[in-house]
This record gives sequence, C-alpha cells and structure tokens, in this order.
Amino acid sequence: MQRKKAIIIGGGPAGVAAAMYLRQRTQISFTVYELRPEPTTLGGAIALMPNGLRLLDRLGVHDRLLTKGNSCSSVILHSLQGSVLGEIDRVAAAKEEMGFGYLRIIRSEFLDVLLEAARNDGIEVQYSKRLKSITDDGNSVTVEFGDGTTDTADFLLGCDGIHSSVRRLYVDPNINPEYTGVSILGSIIPASLLGESVVSQLRGTHITMTQEGMFMAMPCDPSNEKILWVFQKEVPLPKSGDDRDGWEVHRKKEVEGFKSQMLEVLRDAEGEWGAAMKRMIEQTSTVQFYPIYKLPFGGKWFRGRCLLLGDAAHAMPPHAVQGVSMALEDASLLSRLLENDQRSLDDIFSTFDKIRRDRVKEVASQAEKNAQSRKRTGPWGLWFKEMAISFAIWGYTALGKHIRNAENKFAVYDIDKEEV
Ligand SMILES: Cc1cc2nc3c(=O)[nH]c(=O)nc-3n(C[C@H](O)[C@H](O)[C@H](O)COP(=O)(O)OP(=O)(O)OC[C@H]3O[C@@H](n4cnc5c(N)ncnc54)[C@H](O)[C@@H]3O)c2cc1C
Repeated sequence: MQRKKAIIIGGGPAGVAAAMYLRQRTQISFTVYELRPEPTTLGGAIALMPNGLRLLDRLGVHDRLLTKGNSCSSVILHSLQGSVLGEIDRVAAAKEEMGFGYLRIIRSEFLDVLLEAARNDGIEVQYSKRLKSITDDGNSVTVEFGDGTTDTADFLLGCDGIHSSVRRLYVDPNINPEYTGVSILGSIIPASLLGESVVSQLRGTHITMTQEGMFMAMPCDPSNEKILWVFQKEVPLPKSGDDRDGWEVHRKKEVEGFKSQMLEVLRDAEGEWGAAMKRMIEQTSTVQFYPIYKLPFGGKWFRGRCLLLGDAAHAMPPHAVQGVSMALEDASLLSRLLENDQRSLDDIFSTFDKIRRDRVKEVASQAEKNAQSRKRTGPWGLWFKEMAISFAIWGYTALGKHIRNAENKFAVYDIDKEEV
C-alpha cells in the first residue's frame, strides 16, 4: 500500500496535531480540510495535563501556550458551609518527574497557538469543506466535499470529532454518540467584576460539591483576569428528543433560567467562599450549556485506507481532563508508525489500534468513574462525598506530599516510549 499522500478531515486539535507531527517526522504530503468557515471551537476553557503538555512541547508550542494560560495546579475543595476540606496538587508528582504540570487555557487561544505554529511549518487548513462522500477502492481513497471539489490520497485520517462523518460514512456507521446523563453549564467572566475579596481567593481550581452537582471555578489566563466557572450536573434526556432540536428547547430553559437556578443551588452556601460563588453567578450575564456525549467503546477505528483519531475514535466524558491529550497521543503515535516506510498501512493501523486500545479504555473508565461525583445526591450523600474526599486528602498528605493516583499514572505516560 502506497502512503505518500494523506487527507486529514477536521481542523481541531487531533487534525492540526496530526498534520504537525506528519510534517515533523515524515515526508508524507497532506491537506487538512475543516468543515467550518474559520477556526472555531466550543466556548470555555480546557485543562491540559502533563502527558499532553509534553507532546505539545515536542511540537514546539508549550512555551507559547504557557504565556496564554494559567498553570496553577492546586485544587482547593470547599464545603458548602464555607470550610476548606483540603488542598492538593494533582500533578505535583508528575511535574517533579517529567517537568510538565497543568495548564487551563481558553479553547480558542489554544487552537490559535496550534494553528499559528502549523502555519509556520507551512501547513494551511482548507476551510468550509463539508465532507460528503468517501470512496476507498483499495488503491486510493477519494473524498468529495459539499462544494463539489474532490481530493484523492493514499490514506485518510478522520479527525472530525465525536460526530465524525468519516466514521458515519465509512469506518463504522454503527457507532453513535450516547448522552452520558451529565451536562455542563458555565461562563468565563472578567475578574474585575468580582471584587478584590473574591479575586484574592482565586488561585488554582476551586471545587464545591452540592446536592445538585459540582461547582468549579478557576482562572484561565496567566494574570488571573478571566475566571471560568462551571456547574456539572445530572440532566435527563429532554422529552423533546435526543437530537439538536430536542436539546435546543432544554438549552434555552437552562440558559435563560441559570441565575435563579444556580442561586437556588447555592442558597445554603456560607462563608467567604459561599459569597464568592454567589457573586460569580450574580455577575454572569450569559452562560453556555453543553450536554455531554461519549462514544460507546469497542467500535472500529480503521477500515481500508481510513483511520480515526481523537474524539472521532474515542470521545469520552471530559471528567478525566484527557480528551485533547488523548488526541495528541494518537497523532504522535501514528506519525511514529508512519516513519518506517517499509510497513503496510494495514500493519500500521492495526498496530496503532493495538497500542492505543488499553490506554484509551483505562482513561475513559476513569472519566466515567469521575462522572459519579457530578451526580445528584441527598444531604447524607453529600456529607458522605465530602467526608470521603477529606479522608482521601488526609491520606495523600499523610502518605507523602504527592498524589500517586490514577491521574498521576495517566499524566506520566509517554506515548513516544511505546515500542513501534
Ligand atoms: C464541555 C467539554 C469540556 C471539555 N474539557 C476538556 C478539558 O478540560 N481538557 C481536555 O483535554 N479535553 C476536554 N474536552 C474534550 C476535548 O474537547 C476533545 O477531546 C478534543 O477537542 C478532541 O479533539 P478532536 O480534534 O478529536 O475533535 P474536535 O475538537 O471536535 O475537532 C473536530 C474538528 O473537525 C471538524 N469537523 C467535524 N465534521 C467535519 C466534517 N464532516 N468535515 C470536515 N471537518 C469536520 C470540526 O468542525 C472540528 O473543527 C472537553 C469536551 C467538552 C464537550
């Protein structure tokens, strides 16, 4: 099987990183096609973990990203009554071991940095390209776009996210996104609206459990001027249907009623932190609402000359904060497999699958496990969760200053050490 030319569908983290790694490590030529008319992301801010930051360093963008995001990795847990249940640094051990920590960054800033570096490598993304069909004749793969243009290459990378057309049209039409039962409401607000007493408390990630779900707040720029707050909670599938229109009715309700709903959730919040959370809600004028979907595990990741990367293959709930890092790991591994031009595509794709399956499964299971703490509970359930967390923090502190838990195991993993 020839593999001199590739088509990359999707200009998100997986697509751009795959392009950059191919440019860095192979002689393969490629074109990146993106559906939207310009670089676009979901709103909000994402967290990047050490394993992902190390790969971004290898792409040459880590230092630039650090100038755009907030790298304070402390997690401070507050009770609703206002006391601090504990403080931990989830990535301290990883940071010490590998030199990379944590970064919270506005999504669009992250993509801008990646795209700027890609442009410097001579990579341009073709926008407004909606994939319409894929024809794999065994010798090459041809795509047709909505505007009537076509392209043919030796292989195709489907980096087009959870609702992937590459997966639906060709690789595995039987796999469809499933709603997880958890949704996220949130906003980014200027710290200047919050007053000095609130801003002085805001360093790292602040978490408060409530009976309805989990409230989190954190700065997402280097100078603590932009504050992201999110509320993750159980939301049943809307009666109006599990599709865009069905959610639109529910989304409107959430977005229009967020202030009264959130102030009701936080009604019993006390102390300085309780007042800070309420102030954040009061000072927010608009929110975004995301129902969280995932892909069922076990679908095909490749067929013929097409391979899925990132969310197109294995979208998982964001509660292990590993989605982007998983896409980067995919991209890096694939480029290493393609470095050896003696291998067949079949061999490359199946080796990719073999190396990635267990790792992705383990991270996705952790994300599912973490989702439990976002679910609705009664007063005793909340008390139990808070006690369990206090006890865990006490245990970690007593055992040593660093947490060596599952998150640390995921964080220190280096995909480039996998034998290919
Ligand atoms: C609410 C929420 C919070 C999250 N928080 C985090 C976090 O803190 N940390 C983290 O690491 N991850 C987080 N994630 C997960 C993370 O966003 C994804 O894992 C990551 O964006 C996957 O990158 P991707 O490139 O595979 O897919 P995407 O980011 O979805 O990019 C896919 C791209 O393909 C394009 N596309 C789609 N269809 C087509 C088509 N037919 N033709 C051409 N182009 C197409 C899209 O427009 C898009 O640009 C979060 C996810 C959600 C929903």
